[in-house]
Amino acid sequence: MGRVGGGQPARPSELEEACIMGKTSVQERGAQTVSVVAAWAAMAAGEALQPYEYEAGPLGIDQVEIAVSHCGICHSDLSMIEDAWHMSRYPLVAGHEVVGVITAVGESVEARQVGQRVGLGAQSGSCGACRECLAGDQNLCRTLELTMVGRHGGFADRVRCDWQFAVPVPDEIDSADAAPLFCGGVTVCNPIMQFDVKPVDRVGVIGIGGLGHMALQFLDKWGCHVVAFTSTEAKCEEAMELGADETASSRDSAAMKRFAGTLDFIISTVNVPLDWPAIISMLAPRGRLCLVGVVPKPADIPVFEMIKGQKSLCGSNIGSPGTIATMLDFCVRHGIRPVTERFEMSRINEALDRLRAGQVRYRIVLENDFV
Ligand code: NAP
Ligand code: ZN
Repeated sequence: MGRVGGGQPARPSELEEACIMGKTSVQERGAQTVSVVAAWAAMAAGEALQPYEYEAGPLGIDQVEIAVSHCGICHSDLSMIEDAWHMSRYPLVAGHEVVGVITAVGESVEARQVGQRVGLGAQSGSCGACRECLAGDQNLCRTLELTMVGRHGGFADRVRCDWQFAVPVPDEIDSADAAPLFCGGVTVCNPIMQFDVKPVDRVGVIGIGGLGHMALQFLDKWGCHVVAFTSTEAKCEEAMELGADETASSRDSAAMKRFAGTLDFIISTVNVPLDWPAIISMLAPRGRLCLVGVVPKPADIPVFEMIKGQKSLCGSNIGSPGTIATMLDFCVRHGIRPVTERFEMSRINEALDRLRAGQVRYRIVLENDFV
């Protein structure tokens, strides 16, 4: 827990350097890309990942190529590998919390340079022309491109994206600490910004995993009174260190009565059905329940209760590149960093098993050893 609120300076970029100069790379300003990407792929639903190579093809004129030095593991990676959402195509290269160094830029890219350290989250492109994109809400674009859907992601030595989605990493944030912010971090920061959570608000966070442990830190620094709801009693003390003011069980509906009518905002990061009526009854009048955890089953909503208290239910989808940049500034200002476990990328199957078993405290970050 020594890393909480640490705000450590950037490490010497030995791993980044090694990744750029690694076995498959050929480097010259702007032009040289790898032809074959070395990756870790699932060949079928739920199978152990295997080394896998694929042809990268020509770099798009608006794209950048990134030498991946670090990649976090989000629960969404596991859901895609296991085809939990019935949308996976195999071979599947997951990984969407990438940090690395740009090794090539497409012809029309002016705003990113070779050698720049950037991060890439769950979104790698958008149409750029719809109302949402024009308003800076690229995460709401209806034809958005996701980093690991229909294309290959960051469990690899290289990954590509539209330049706008390669967001520069501030010098103050170490690459391994930055990686989880690009999906998990922004996914819990986005609702705080989008739904106007106020410093005077009382906010509940349900599920203290990769997303939840970052939510506690953001909300604490935002100024809120924070209640952590967990199904793992052993996490209670750590939740308090991460910024919670109180803790409670996420599975004991009777115990939730203690909070009846008091919480202005609740973020649920859990990916299984919960007692939604009990959770909604904790909301204060005009309170809002925001779902970010992907629960595959429809939720049971107490309509009368929602009407009486003018309560709302919403979802939140990752965050735009602008929101990611704002979040990174906020992390620098307040020393917010994920609590991480580090694994070499070649130990990816062991890392996924830990996540499956619910043993991670709190986010695994893979360090690339393809070099
Ligand atoms: P994670 O690290 O596995 O954390 C999930 C947490 O949920 C666990 O740590 C656990 O917290 C709780 N939980 C798990 N099983 C439970 C159960 N049976 N009953 C009660 N609580 C349970 O996962 P994550 O990476 O934070 O991702 C969380 C969810 O967000 C996933 O569904 C992921 O796909 C989704 N996601 C959504 C977006 C988006 O844009 N909306 C973006 C990224 C991820 P406790 O031990 O504290 O109970
Ligand atoms: Zn994710």
